[in-house]
Amino acid sequence: MRNIAAYIEELAPLYWAESWDNVGLQVGDPGAAVQRVLVALELTDPVLEEAESLGCDMVVVHHPPIFRPLKALRFDNRPARRLLRLIRGGIALYAAHTNLDQAAGMTNDTLAAAAGLTEFEVLKQAGEERYVKLVVFVPRGHEDAVRDALAGAGAGHIGNYSHCTFQAPGTGTFLPLEGTNPFIGQQGRLERVEELRLETIVPESAAAQAVQAMIAAHPYEEVAYDLYPLANPGKVRGHGRIGRLAQPVSLAQLAERLKQALRTPAVRVVGDPERMVTTVAVGAGAGADLIRPAASRGADVLVTGDVKYHEAQDALDLGLALVDVGHYNSEAGAIGSLAAYLRERLAADGHPVEVVESQAGRDPFRFV
Ligand SMILES: [Zn+2]
Repeated sequence: MRNIAAYIEELAPLYWAESWDNVGLQVGDPGAAVQRVLVALELTDPVLEEAESLGCDMVVVHHPPIFRPLKALRFDNRPARRLLRLIRGGIALYAAHTNLDQAAGMTNDTLAAAAGLTEFEVLKQAGEERYVKLVVFVPRGHEDAVRDALAGAGAGHIGNYSHCTFQAPGTGTFLPLEGTNPFIGQQGRLERVEELRLETIVPESAAAQAVQAMIAAHPYEEVAYDLYPLANPGKVRGHGRIGRLAQPVSLAQLAERLKQALRTPAVRVVGDPERMVTTVAVGAGAGADLIRPAASRGADVLVTGDVKYHEAQDALDLGLALVDVGHYNSEAGAIGSLAAYLRERLAADGHPVEVVESQAGRDPFRFV
C-alpha cells in the first residue's frame, strides 16, 4: 500500500491539494500488502460491491468519501456503512482529488484531449516547481556513472531530453588528514587530481534524492558538490488547461465532439451554437470558478461541469461560451489514465499487483 500511495503522490503530491480538501490514505494500514486495486471516481454502493466481488484490497477514488467532519459511524447511515464495510472487508481507501486535478495526464489533461486539444498549458496557476543547479566534482572516468545516477533520480531532465549536463575539466586538490581512507593519495600529502565539474538542473522537490543517488555513485569518501537556487521560471502547475484547436470548429461541433469522446447522450451549451471557437479552456469537475480566468486569457469557450444559472449569465456577459458536460463526464476519463499510470509503475518495479478500472461507476444524472 505504501508503494501505491508513493506512486500516486509522486504524480500528485498531497501538498498540491486545496486546503479544504482531504486527500491521501483514508482507511487502512499503510504497511499492508496489496494484490488488487480498484480505481473509481466515487465510492458508491455499486463500486463497493464491485470491489468486494473482485476481491480488491484497495480502492483508489477521486472524490474523498471522508470529507465533511465525520461525526458517527452508524450502519443506518449509508456513507458511514460503506466505510464500515471497507474496514470489515480489509479494503483500504485512498483519495486523490484536487492534487490529481493538477497532475500531468490526469483529470484536466484527459478532458483537454477529449476537447481535441493536443497542446495546452495550465489555465490558472497554483504553484511553480523551481529548479536548482547541482554541481559536482568527479574524478575522470567516473562521470558517466554519476551522470546516470543523477538522471535516474530526476536530475538533468529538460523537456523530452534526459541526461542533460555540462562538464568541464579542471584540477581538484585535497590533503587527506589523519583518520581518512582516501580513494586517491595518501594521508598528509597534497594531491592534485584531474577532475570534471559536472553540472545539471534538478527540480527542488527531487534535489535531496538526486544528491543521495549522486553520493552513492561517486567514488570519493567526501563528495564536493554545490546546490544553487535558480531564478529561471520553473514548471507551472495548477487548475484547468487552455490551448488552441488545430482547426476552428463551431460551438455545436465542439459539443458533438465532446459527446462522442465522453460517451454522453447530451451536454449543455451556453452561447450561440454556430459561433466558431479556436481557443478552448477546460476545467474538470465543478469549474465555474475558471470562467473569469478563461475569459481573461482569451478563451472562446470553457468546457466544464456543474455550471449554475448565474454563472452561465456571467460567462455570456464576458463573451465566453460554455459546454457543461456534467461533473461526472468531465472526470470519468481520468479513471483509465490513473489506472494505466499505476499499472505502468507497478510493472516497472516488478510488483505483481492487478489494477482494475471500475465499471460500476455511473453519472447520477440521466437524460429522459
Ligand atoms: Zn470532481
